[in-house]
Amino acid sequence: MHPIAAADPAIWKVLQDERIRQQDGLEMIASENYTSSAILAAQGSVLTNKYAEGYPGRRYYGGCEVVDEAEKLAIDRACALFGAENANVQPHSGASANMAVYFAALNPGDTIVAMNLAHGGHLTHGMHLNFSGKLYNVKHYGVRPDDGRIDYDQVESLCKEHKPKLVVAGASAYSRTIQFDQFADICKRHGALFMVDMAHIAGLVAGGQHPSPVPWADFVTSTTHKTLRGPRSGFIMCRKEWIQKINQAVFPGLQGGPLMHVVAAKAIGFLEASQPEFRAYAAQVVANARTIAHELLSHGYRLISGGTDNHLVLVDVNASGLSGRQAERALDAAGITVNRNGIPFDTRPPLDPSGVRIGTPALTTRGMTEVEMRQIAAWMHRVLKAPDDTAAQAAVRAEVRELCKSFPAPHEHA
Ligand SMILES: *Cc1c(COP(=O)(O)O)cnc(C)c1O
Repeated sequence: MHPIAAADPAIWKVLQDERIRQQDGLEMIASENYTSSAILAAQGSVLTNKYAEGYPGRRYYGGCEVVDEAEKLAIDRACALFGAENANVQPHSGASANMAVYFAALNPGDTIVAMNLAHGGHLTHGMHLNFSGKLYNVKHYGVRPDDGRIDYDQVESLCKEHKPKLVVAGASAYSRTIQFDQFADICKRHGALFMVDMAHIAGLVAGGQHPSPVPWADFVTSTTHKTLRGPRSGFIMCRKEWIQKINQAVFPGLQGGPLMHVVAAKAIGFLEASQPEFRAYAAQVVANARTIAHELLSHGYRLISGGTDNHLVLVDVNASGLSGRQAERALDAAGITVNRNGIPFDTRPPLDPSGVRIGTPALTTRGMTEVEMRQIAAWMHRVLKAPDDTAAQAAVRAEVRELCKSFPAPHEHA
């Protein structure tokens, strides 16, 4: 009997139900992925028992000599993978990685220029209910109304007017390549520090499918669990002159002990992402997203920016007579999991916005390619053109379940 089944049948049932849900459906939330069994195992390992406040060789607890090796491996592999000078691998999440950079580089009340949440930015880029919006004076740039691309002229004019200490690039719902060189030019001209939050695209950067921010930015933050396919966590890379301040901001500034089981899992993730197979994976993620975009366009849908360069597609379902919530629910009933999402210049409320965000990282991990993407886009259209047709949803649901059998999730291989 599995130890969890013996100790806690209620939680064992949750784990089994979720395992089956992850196997039986099409996971198309752009920020989700399936980790390897090695990464799952590291997170369930004895390293969870160890306190290790401080940094390798400089801990506030005894007995850290073994876990020190895990953290050193994670730091060295992150730096090698992305060509960075220094890294801190202790942030518990992408949000806390961002918080650490703000604490290291800014004082409360300082000015930040960052991307508008409503145009694809993130909560931690200055949303009014988030700490970032409460502690700092944030001015937001967005995308251009005509082509849905970042308005670099607006970034420049905001910098000219507001003289920010920090400019933030990076997004959660932006389907085009981000021009880090252009951002860096603007920052240089206006004396601003430059931070890139590459949470969504880190795996594409590692796999050579998106330009790297590392040569351009003073700070690069990221999650490890999205396209990068590691454990649920975060990390920071920076230039040499900032590492001491960053380390202090993470500990003792923001956190107590690091999660050493997750640090070890991050080390495995960085190793996996440095393999040739990961480059092929990243290329297939992008090819799959392009195929979804192409197929949806041919079915008559309106896509923000007209397509994609990366792992996601933002669809304006309102232009097809649906709300985002309606589309999310209908697709979910058919076994296709996406999330409703605001679109730039949205006229609908945030809880029921005009768009859905569709991503390919998780399905690509399962081995799906263009053939499956064409089929999935056809299913999406079948469901969305008649969102109340429960018979169509059930029919698609059955076909989805069949397809999923041929593409087992990594945890089903073990
Ligand atoms: C997902 C994301 C984050 C936050 O990551 P969490 O681990 O959920 O805190 C930060 N920034 C961007 C751009 C993201 O997409």
